[in-house]
Amino acid sequence: MTVETRTTIQLGDITEVEIECTKCHARIIWNPRDADHFIPLLCKKCDTPFFIRNSQEHRDLLQLLSLINTYSHTGNYHLRFSLGNPEATRSCPILTKE
Ligand SMILES: [Zn+2]
Repeated sequence: MTVETRTTIQLGDITEVEIECTKCHARIIWNPRDADHFIPLLCKKCDTPFFIRNSQEHRDLLQLLSLINTYSHTGNYHLRFSLGNPEATRSCPILTKE
């Protein structure tokens, strides 16, 4: 007999969404349940540009945060995502919103 273990999450399981600077590895974390999200255009620690103001990518990230919240509360179905390697973790400094 073969046993396969699958790890899935629902959008309601997501408590934080983070962005990590590829240069200094600082992170910014958002709670998708918050009403408004401020997404900076630059890294607050090293000023590496993240987004172009009003770009599609910047707007899409704002929408993604909103959609996570919207689809966390589904009615007659469960929307699930499988994780490839849930044991993978990262350790990085965290920048908080100001
Ligand atoms: Zn940075």
